[in-house]
Amino acid sequence: MAKNNRGKALYKQPSRARGTCPVCLATRTKLLETVKKSDGTQLQVCKRCSHAATTRIDAAVANSSTIAFRRKHKKAFHQLQTSLLQYRT
Ligand SMILES: [Zn+2]
Repeated sequence: MAKNNRGKALYKQPSRARGTCPVCLATRTKLLETVKKSDGTQLQVCKRCSHAATTRIDAAVANSSTIAFRRKHKKAFHQLQTSLLQYRT
Protein backbone atom coordinates (compact mmCIF):
# COMPACT_ATOMS: atom_id res chain seq x y z
CA MET A 1 0.00 0.00 0.00
CA ALA A 2 1.31 3.40 -0.98
CA LYS A 3 1.77 5.83 1.87
CA ASN A 4 0.17 8.92 0.36
CA ASN A 5 -0.08 10.83 3.61
CA ARG A 6 3.49 10.45 4.72
CA GLY A 7 6.94 11.72 3.92
CA LYS A 8 7.99 13.65 0.83
CA ALA A 9 4.54 13.75 -0.77
CA LEU A 10 3.39 16.14 1.95
CA TYR A 11 6.07 18.69 1.05
CA LYS A 12 4.44 19.34 -2.32
CA GLN A 13 1.12 20.28 -0.76
CA PRO A 14 0.25 23.82 0.35
CA SER A 15 1.96 24.66 3.66
CA ARG A 16 3.28 21.12 3.64
CA ALA A 17 -0.19 19.79 4.39
CA ARG A 18 -0.06 21.22 7.88
CA GLY A 19 -2.20 23.77 9.62
CA THR A 20 -4.89 24.31 12.20
CA CYS A 21 -7.82 21.97 11.91
CA PRO A 22 -10.98 24.09 11.58
CA VAL A 23 -13.08 21.56 13.47
CA CYS A 24 -11.05 20.55 16.51
CA LEU A 25 -8.67 23.56 16.40
CA ALA A 26 -5.62 21.39 16.86
CA THR A 27 -2.59 23.33 15.70
CA ARG A 28 0.02 22.11 13.16
CA THR A 29 -1.79 18.89 12.41
CA LYS A 30 -1.84 17.29 8.99
CA LEU A 31 -4.90 18.53 7.13
CA LEU A 32 -5.44 15.81 4.59
CA GLU A 33 -9.08 14.83 4.80
CA THR A 34 -11.72 16.75 2.86
CA VAL A 35 -15.19 17.09 4.32
CA LYS A 36 -18.19 18.95 2.99
CA LYS A 37 -20.28 21.31 5.01
CA SER A 38 -24.04 21.18 4.61
CA ASP A 39 -23.88 24.34 2.47
CA GLY A 40 -21.44 22.67 0.06
CA THR A 41 -18.17 24.33 1.02
CA GLN A 42 -15.21 22.03 1.40
CA LEU A 43 -12.94 21.96 4.41
CA GLN A 44 -9.55 20.40 4.96
CA VAL A 45 -9.58 18.69 8.32
CA CYS A 46 -7.33 16.37 10.27
CA LYS A 47 -7.86 12.64 10.27
CA ARG A 48 -9.54 12.71 13.67
CA CYS A 49 -12.23 15.02 12.33
CA SER A 50 -12.81 13.19 9.07
CA HIS A 51 -15.63 11.26 10.72
CA ALA A 52 -16.85 14.07 12.96
CA ALA A 53 -20.55 14.77 13.31
CA THR A 54 -22.03 17.12 10.73
CA THR A 55 -23.03 19.57 13.46
CA ARG A 56 -19.38 19.93 14.47
CA ILE A 57 -18.29 20.36 10.86
CA ASP A 58 -20.94 23.02 10.25
CA ALA A 59 -19.78 24.86 13.36
CA ALA A 60 -16.19 24.90 12.12
CA VAL A 61 -14.28 28.13 11.70
CA ALA A 62 -13.90 28.62 7.95
CA ASN A 63 -10.81 30.80 8.07
CA SER A 64 -8.09 28.81 9.80
CA SER A 65 -5.19 31.05 8.80
CA THR A 66 -3.76 32.39 12.04
CA ILE A 67 -5.88 32.49 15.13
CA ALA A 68 -4.17 33.65 18.25
CA PHE A 69 -4.94 30.85 20.64
CA ARG A 70 -3.42 27.71 21.95
CA ARG A 71 -4.77 24.27 22.47
CA LYS A 72 -5.26 24.83 26.17
CA HIS A 73 -7.53 27.80 25.42
CA LYS A 74 -9.66 25.74 23.09
CA LYS A 75 -12.67 25.55 25.39
CA ALA A 76 -12.81 29.28 25.92
CA PHE A 77 -12.38 29.80 22.20
CA HIS A 78 -15.32 27.54 21.43
CA GLN A 79 -17.48 29.52 23.81
CA LEU A 80 -16.40 32.76 22.15
CA GLN A 81 -16.68 31.34 18.66
CA THR A 82 -20.05 32.82 17.78
CA SER A 83 -19.06 36.29 18.94
CA LEU A 84 -15.73 36.00 17.13
CA LEU A 85 -17.43 35.14 13.88
CA GLN A 86 -19.62 38.19 14.15
CA TYR A 87 -16.53 40.26 14.87
CA ARG A 88 -14.72 39.06 11.75
CA THR A 89 -17.51 39.70 9.27
ZN1 LIG B 1 -9.51 18.07 13.61
